[in-house]
Amino acid sequence: MSLLVVGSVAFDAIETPFGKTDKIVGGAASYITLSASYFTKSVNLVAVVGGDFPKADIALMQSKGINTEGLQIKENEKSFFWSGKYRNDMNSRDTLVTELNVLGTFDPLIPDSYQNCEFLMLGNLAPAVQQTVVNRLKKRPKLVVMDTMNFWMDVAWDDLMKTLKLVDVLSINDEEARQLTKEYSLRKAAKKIHEMGPKYVIIKKGEHGALLFGEGKMFAAPALPLEEVFDPTGAGDTFAGGFIGYLAKKNSTNFEDMKQALIYGSTLASFCVEKFGWERLLTLTDKEVQERVQEFVKLTKFEV
Ligand code: AMP
Repeated sequence: MSLLVVGSVAFDAIETPFGKTDKIVGGAASYITLSASYFTKSVNLVAVVGGDFPKADIALMQSKGINTEGLQIKENEKSFFWSGKYRNDMNSRDTLVTELNVLGTFDPLIPDSYQNCEFLMLGNLAPAVQQTVVNRLKKRPKLVVMDTMNFWMDVAWDDLMKTLKLVDVLSINDEEARQLTKEYSLRKAAKKIHEMGPKYVIIKKGEHGALLFGEGKMFAAPALPLEEVFDPTGAGDTFAGGFIGYLAKKNSTNFEDMKQALIYGSTLASFCVEKFGWERLLTLTDKEVQERVQEFVKLTKFEV
């Protein structure tokens, strides 16, 4: 089934204890679409870049089957730029620079050919822009998944509350869930988020895996303990892309399939962190994905 993804396509500059990059391709939607493209070849992107964004990278996306008809190119403007620095634990990072540039005035136009998408992923963006996308679709998709971050809780609370009412699944990290609900217990936090709108809540816990809440049930996916984590940037987006890409492939929105989607999302994310930016995802093979899924199965399978 077809998937529509909206989010940032950007330049990032990243610093980790293992090294530093100049401007490389980043952005939530870059990771989401690439990750989802492992599961479905019907991935449709809505985003905006400036004239400085390399045409070769757009061609690279297209070569992975990503439809870029909805990618606006503002020739005389600059792309969104974000820079971050990871602390030694690699789980926490400080944002050094956020330059909105083209994202500051982003009007998400939906090409007619995208109108019937059954799955919608609202990547991290201003909640008002996410809302516009939902409102511009003539038919509501069967599953709407949304990501957000603490920044929007600080500057756009009211818009965020309105957007939450429109989505089925919220995917956020533990720190953000606590900020959103003022609850320390993630179980209580999930309950409060259900009351805000989303029937399903995914809480990502970095190297400690992810939790899924919905239909009064709960499921935990581990993160695969890796020998080396090189750069966690985009892991959350890669997770979300794997999650919704898998569900789009199965054309399913049921809880049992969401559990599997959580494992596939975690699998894709475990590759993302092995190299800087989206580099590792570009060379990933189906065989590698399947082998790593089996590692997840072995990691948690036990009998009592
Ligand atoms: P993640 O590591 O999954 O949280 O996502 C990192 C990506 O989010 C980077 O590639 C950034 O370009 C992008 N990003 C950071 N801040 C923002 C923002 N305020 N709006 C949209 N995208 C952002």
